[in-house]
Amino acid sequence: MRIGHGYDVHRFGDGDFITLGGVHIPHNRGLVAHSDGDVILHAVCDALLGASACADIGTLFPDTDPRWKDVESSRILAEVLTTVAERGWKPKNVDVVVHLERPRLTEYRDQIRHQLGELLGISIDSVGLKAKTGEGVGPVGESLVIDSMAVVQL
Ligand code: MG
Repeated sequence: MRIGHGYDVHRFGDGDFITLGGVHIPHNRGLVAHSDGDVILHAVCDALLGASACADIGTLFPDTDPRWKDVESSRILAEVLTTVAERGWKPKNVDVVVHLERPRLTEYRDQIRHQLGELLGISIDSVGLKAKTGEGVGPVGESLVIDSMAVVQL
């Protein structure tokens, strides 16, 4: 058994939706990123890579590489799962914290859990997800960024 821990953050910018856990969520801002800025999937990718002692997502998928420009992060996750599988590992469960002031994710929570389970090949019962606000202070509280932390077991 292995355990891995991942973290990611992206800044808000112009746009009318965000993508979290592979789910398209309408919003009055977007996220600034080389890919789609999906902080949940990026944190999960780094947790998977960390658990299998691989290089991190920034090293494997650099933002200077045009192949990963505007790509859906589910494609990056698929590549990561292949890398992890080549080392003989597969996900057992994942637990995620997403840290944002707006939008509220209550109505999207189960959809994101379902999507994460589909992408990782595990049951929704093995996907934890908590959304936390920044209590109005700091970069999260002032809606400058969204960040996310993930723990996975392989
Ligand atoms: Mg990222």
